[in-house]
Amino acid sequence: MINTLGLTKYYDTRPAVRDVDLYVPAGEICGLIGPNGAGKTTLLKMLAGLLRPTSGKIEVAGIEVGTEPKQLHEIVGYVPDTFGLYDELTVRHFMQYFAKAHRVPKEQIERRIAGVLELTNLASKYYEPVGALSRGMRQRLVIAKTLLHAPKVLLLDEPASGLDPVARIDLCELIKELGALGTTLVVSSHILTELADFCTSVVIMEQGHVIRSGRIEELVGKLSDGLPVRIEMTDAEAATALAEKLESREDLRDVTVEGAIIDCAFQGDRLALATLHKEVVLMHDGVVSFYERRLTIEDVFMAVGSHAVS
Ligand code: ATP
Repeated sequence: MINTLGLTKYYDTRPAVRDVDLYVPAGEICGLIGPNGAGKTTLLKMLAGLLRPTSGKIEVAGIEVGTEPKQLHEIVGYVPDTFGLYDELTVRHFMQYFAKAHRVPKEQIERRIAGVLELTNLASKYYEPVGALSRGMRQRLVIAKTLLHAPKVLLLDEPASGLDPVARIDLCELIKELGALGTTLVVSSHILTELADFCTSVVIMEQGHVIRSGRIEELVGKLSDGLPVRIEMTDAEAATALAEKLESREDLRDVTVEGAIIDCAFQGDRLALATLHKEVVLMHDGVVSFYERRLTIEDVFMAVGSHAVS
């Protein structure tokens, strides 16, 4: 759905995005993660056709960005990280204004507005002034107006920034729902945990470069040479003693100890893992827990880059 090749952007002589080759298939919810200044906004603006690259190519849904702006506009929705709203308008008038601007056919306007307000959980605010909405609601309203022309691709720049925990959960649900409806989403953040709940794929950026990208299952799968197992012991001493015994086993690799916790990669199936569990408990006193660890996007992140993102 989104393809870039050698995508580069300089502001004067300073590079902001460097030689980015990206592929985001249709239907993905792609998390774009990187510290402040990594180049996320610059990349998203180029994907939306709002910023001209210095060099490189972008294709969105088969359209070469920069050649057919009108068609691109119909396919892509972009929600910037900061936005001004017309506070004195009611939600109804605000939406009607943008429906006309998006050239939604007149007879479809009310139905379309009702649909996107329902989806963004703002239907009850129809007659309220925009200025009376909470920050979370305003964020959802901007998304609602961007959805009016039913874009196939939605680019959200730091949508969770400044939202309280409840508003973040609402936003997260909305993003998941849009993904389930078939929209391809790219959502940026400099806070990993904001993205972890809904991303199906991830692009990690640092200093203008993409340092890792792909589907989360695939990236996670590459992290461990076997089934990742965690053993929690009563204390560090017990962990070190047990780890020494585990290191000599041929079915375990990458045995590491941190405090009272042992991590290792098991070279067998889950049935054999049950046997290992029994053996470990008998091998040493002090085993508090033994489990197959589910690796996450956070493990992927920790395995690459400078870890400047929290
Ligand atoms: P943030 O999370 O802080 O928005 P970001 O990852 O979105 O960061 P960008 O905003 O794309 O990063 O910025 C990338 C680099 O380009 C930064 O060094 C920034 O200072 C610079 N930059 C961004 N916009 C401009 C501009 N209009 N003119 C000059 N330099 C710019």
